[in-house]
Amino acid sequence: MLIRGATVVDGSGGRGRIADVHVAGASIRQVGRLTATSADSVVDARGLVLAPGFIDTHSHHDWGLDSERTAVAAVSQGITTIVVGQDGWSNFPLADFFGRLAARPAALNVASYVGHGRLRAAILGDDFKRQATAAEVRHMGALLDGEMAAGALGLSSGLEYDPGIYSSRDELIALARVAARHGGRYISHMRSEDRHFWAAVDELLAIGRLARLPVQISHAKLAMKSLWGHADSLIGILDRARAAGVRVTLDVYPYTYWESTLTVLFPERDFRDTAAARFALTEVTSPDSAILGDYEPDTTLVGKSIAQVAALRGTDPAATLIDLIASARKPKPGGGEFSESVIGTSMIQPDIDRLVRWPFANVCSDGALNGSHPRGFGAFPRFFRQYVRERHLLSLEEAVRRTTSLAAANVGIRSRGRIAPGFFADLVLLDTAALADRSTPARPHLAATGIRAVWVNGVLVYDGAPTGAVPGRVIRRAAARGR
Ligand SMILES: [Zn+2]
Repeated sequence: MLIRGATVVDGSGGRGRIADVHVAGASIRQVGRLTATSADSVVDARGLVLAPGFIDTHSHHDWGLDSERTAVAAVSQGITTIVVGQDGWSNFPLADFFGRLAARPAALNVASYVGHGRLRAAILGDDFKRQATAAEVRHMGALLDGEMAAGALGLSSGLEYDPGIYSSRDELIALARVAARHGGRYISHMRSEDRHFWAAVDELLAIGRLARLPVQISHAKLAMKSLWGHADSLIGILDRARAAGVRVTLDVYPYTYWESTLTVLFPERDFRDTAAARFALTEVTSPDSAILGDYEPDTTLVGKSIAQVAALRGTDPAATLIDLIASARKPKPGGGEFSESVIGTSMIQPDIDRLVRWPFANVCSDGALNGSHPRGFGAFPRFFRQYVRERHLLSLEEAVRRTTSLAAANVGIRSRGRIAPGFFADLVLLDTAALADRSTPARPHLAATGIRAVWVNGVLVYDGAPTGAVPGRVIRRAAARGR
């Protein structure tokens, strides 16, 4: 295939230039002024920008991927690789997950971390509300060894969630050392994004320093009023850590609101604590801006804010939050747990801007195929719309670098994220003037505009609609190189 006449923005950060790109099989063969042979199919891309496909370093687009293999939420925003196994939870064992994906591939490539919480659950079971013993940590390490051997990128943690929240720093360091032995890395939804933020950053950096592996902050945010305006301090800490040899990076999504569980608002895990509920609804988010994204115990409440539910029930917002959690934690008829989620506004734009401008920050979606947060369909186009076209905070070339080669480097993926001979032909053809997200909290599944065509491993998967092709591959960690 010859893609002719596009402005090629190759992912390196270097200036875009008009060139032809020759794709042979799954790979990029040549870039330059090229002539088509009779065997080539030719794509006329004049007036458009050709970039490497976006690499989403923190994705939940694997949920339901086996039944929705076209992954329209992701590919319609130009994502060609998702990195899953995030927030401490991964498919287990990964060898089976990778085997299923290889047998029934999706439209996009999938790489995975090993979830620390998954290891904890395997060894501690229901008895997880405590520190692990040395023997248990060794057992977790043995499981991790196997998962790393299966090709995981490293260890992920979700330290605001069960069961990771009960782990000690030493447990994490011990396991990170196992990942490091395999040339892996550590990625973390940190222990706090609000009340205990600075200690959480310190913990992540200590893990990087002591276990001697690259560490990445997942979906970085300063999510509490008293933290607002302090992104500069965070960047200062990260820069000093880098200068001292810690390979720290971060990913960030371009929204001031997150989506998580209601229980994440209670770091001390007492879900009846009125003072904690009040604090969450005044300092972390607000009754008006905390909106139920999912609420299985009573689906009529989905889309309503805590303030609206409180008004309906005639209870105050803190009591309402406590009641909502209590109902969701009741045993579900037929077994299992009720699902629930909340979309909470907790961040301010200037902090996100500061994080985005840090040269080691790449972009992630944190999105899902059928989620309630608009990031599932919109994160990457929104990043380009806001930061390149509307606010001119990044050049197009730099924005492409953040979503491609830097993303690949930050999670240890090789041979993707650049348009250069020998790289995989994961490509996105952009109409940059039209590139925009359309998804909103009210309509989270609206596909973006400006994504003209998406190829994965040289195969067209999206051209305004999914093509039905499923050429995605499993991406395993490359063998560690000597340093
Ligand atoms: Zn997370």
